[in-house]
Amino acid sequence: MSDCLFCKIIAGEIPSTKVYEDEYVYAFKDINPLAPIHVLIVPKEHISGASEITSENSAVVSKIFETAAKLAKELGISEDGFRIVTNCGDHGCQSVHHLHFHLLGGKQLTADMG
Ligand code: 5GP
Ligand code: ZN
Repeated sequence: MSDCLFCKIIAGEIPSTKVYEDEYVYAFKDINPLAPIHVLIVPKEHISGASEITSENSAVVSKIFETAAKLAKELGISEDGFRIVTNCGDHGCQSVHHLHFHLLGGKQLTADMG
């Protein structure tokens, strides 16, 4: 999508600190980290959010979770634990409308999910 921030990041039109890339998935450091490790993992295909996951495009979601587990090990947060979050829509406080999963770790996170 031409006016999508994360599509532009994936295309290299906007710089990012890449931590992983393959045919289906791109992962990069969040510009405003909320934890010592804060990586965004996104499908290369534009999917606007979790509400738009279907049987046609859902395979990439398992690729994203495989990537998250691999990156958590590589980044040294797998043993202590981490959180994977996707925000969807207004009530979910989604600010970028390209499906993305936050991988957060490197400190004790709070239980408050509200
Ligand atoms: P959301 O609020 O939609 O769940 O998450 C969007 C995330 O994208 C936020 O954590 C925000 O800091 C991050 N973000 C917004 N713009 C940029 C950018 O230009 N580069 C990077 N690396 N992250 C961004
Ligand atoms: Zn996009």
